[in-house]
This record gives sequence, C-alpha cells and structure tokens, in this order.
Amino acid sequence: MHQQGFKNVYQLDGGILNYIEQRPNKNFEGECFVFDHRVAVDQKLQPSSTYKLCPHCGQPGATQIQCRKCEADAVVCEACIQAEHLQTCSKNCAHHYQRNREVKGRQQAQGYRFEVTRGN
Ligand SMILES: [Zn+2]
Ligand SMILES: [Zn+2]
Repeated sequence: MHQQGFKNVYQLDGGILNYIEQRPNKNFEGECFVFDHRVAVDQKLQPSSTYKLCPHCGQPGATQIQCRKCEADAVVCEACIQAEHLQTCSKNCAHHYQRNREVKGRQQAQGYRFEVTRGN
C-alpha cells in the first residue's frame, strides 16, 4: 500500500479492540464483530444490542423476528430468515415448527384424498 502512495498506513497495534479503546468514538464508525458471546461491541465496548448470534447457523444476525413456534422475540441472520422454519428462536423451535408443518401437510393431503373418495 505504501507503494501506491498511502503514507498513513499503520498496523492496528494490538488489534481493533485495542484501537477502539485508545481512540474512543473518533476514527471508528459502526460496530465491530468480536465473535465471542458478546457477538459485537459498540464504540464503548459494550455488547451490541443490534447483533446477536443466529441460533441456527451461529453467524451474527440483526434481523428481528418473532419465533413462529413459541412467539419469543429472536434475532436471526439474513440468510436463515429466507427459510420459513428458521424464522424461529432456536434449533429446537425450528425442528418442531418444521415437523408440525410436515404433519399438517400430510393431514391436508389425506383430507384431500378423503374428500375425493367421499365425492364418489
Ligand atoms: Zn443463520
Ligand atoms: Zn421459539
């Protein structure tokens, strides 16, 4: 990068967290993923209130949902929100939600067959 004319290139000594500690609220915008139980920290090194670990894949996520199974508030990642049964607060809820859906699907199919039979 020096060769391309950048004169102010520093290694972040001690890593990004150290960098924030030394320069609070100055040269750093946004939140920083730390990939531990805090998930992300804001500029005061407080655990992020926006990002939580997705209960399904473990990636940080910021999509607020209401669990389709138990109706608890939950946060999942942008990838998992695409799948209906992953709009749930935990792997457990996802499992039960999907199983219920399969059972319902089977019942509907059986109901349909029943209607046809009775029609004859
Ligand atoms: Zn996910
Ligand atoms: Zn749930």
